[in-house]
Amino acid sequence: MNIHEHQAKALLKTYGAPVAEGVAIHSADEAESAANSLPGPLYVVKSQIHAGGRGKGKFKELGADAKGGVRLAKSIDEVVANAREMLGNTLVTKQTGPAGKQVNRLYIEDGADIARELYCSLLVDRATGRVSFVVSTEGGMDIEAVAEETPEKIITVAVDPDTGVTPENIDSITLALKLDGDAAEDAKSLFPALYKAFVENDMSLLEVNPLIVMEDGHLRVLDAKVSFDNNAAFRHEEWADMRDLSEEDDKEIEASKYDLAYVALDGNIGCMVNGAGLAMSTMDIIKLYGAEPANFLDVGGGASKEKVTAAFKIITADPAVKGILVNIFGGIMRCDVIAEGVIAAVKEVGLEVPLVVRLEGTRVKEGKEILDKSGLNVISADDLDDAAQKIVEAVKK
Ligand code: GDP
Ligand code: MG
Repeated sequence: MNIHEHQAKALLKTYGAPVAEGVAIHSADEAESAANSLPGPLYVVKSQIHAGGRGKGKFKELGADAKGGVRLAKSIDEVVANAREMLGNTLVTKQTGPAGKQVNRLYIEDGADIARELYCSLLVDRATGRVSFVVSTEGGMDIEAVAEETPEKIITVAVDPDTGVTPENIDSITLALKLDGDAAEDAKSLFPALYKAFVENDMSLLEVNPLIVMEDGHLRVLDAKVSFDNNAAFRHEEWADMRDLSEEDDKEIEASKYDLAYVALDGNIGCMVNGAGLAMSTMDIIKLYGAEPANFLDVGGGASKEKVTAAFKIITADPAVKGILVNIFGGIMRCDVIAEGVIAAVKEVGLEVPLVVRLEGTRVKEGKEILDKSGLNVISADDLDDAAQKIVEAVKK
């Protein structure tokens, strides 16, 4: 789960990290009082969407010459004018895809005078099995490009879970970021604070890009991106308040209500599969035969008829879906339950695209019988290759 920049900063602030004062607003009418509550004379008006690259992004409705999704303002009037122009419009950045994201809230922040822009993130490094800092002097820009072109400018510092951030770790980061004076002093508290925030909040990513050295020599968290590890949701009731459903895919929200593992994708073949491994193989084999999956969907083991019905409805509700492949290996999951779920869903929502079903395993005979008797136009398949070829063929027509 992702949260907005202003939420991430509020969270980091509770750990003592240096962030600017700011106010989140949902309508342009709030812009003036928000700006009035800040010291000035420099303000920043920041689009709050769950995607990076906002500064260099473009608003769809505003033409190529308009400014991006992060704007500096030198007066309260400018803050208000920018807020009016930005709110409600669609921001397209490198990370949003061409559809962009509608900007429904802004963060009005006290502006900083920047001397240097640095990069700092925390993640779980699978190679060492440790939470690691990834830092670079090349902040503010696309870190993927830095990794590509000048990988030697990216330094990784792994933290031992038994000790937490040690003075040696801080020295390594300070050296890598070429910090001195007040900034080096700030580093002694900032990096342990970021680590503590990461661990205590079960984050999977904490990215500060840029971390800045200000003209006055001190460090400040200028941008913050936080992703939480969904597997830890059970111990973080507070996440519910931070969730912004308008940032999430409608189909994924619906799927989460039924506890379905569903990820929306860009292709046109809807997949209903049991087991994450089989779901991935199914996606691979669809690609092998020249088409693209519209989703990843694992209905899980022992799913009820209601769950299967919900899953099928989510797939058919996607206008991009031009064909459906049901691929079930009945182990704990029973093939007859799948068949009943599919039929119940079709009765409710109809079936306007070709449907290929491959069933194998527990109660496969009963499952196939149910489908045969239903009168549905089901294309039946025998194995994975056969199923993939048939659905790819069917969507081409
Ligand atoms: P992103 O484009 O989505 O990563 O948004 P950021 O929050 O990183 O802002 C983009 C850029 O805007 C930063 O790299 C800075 O160059 C600039 N910027 C953001 N806030 C300030 C500020 O307070 N003062 C100044 N001078 N520039 C800022
Ligand atoms: Mg940034």
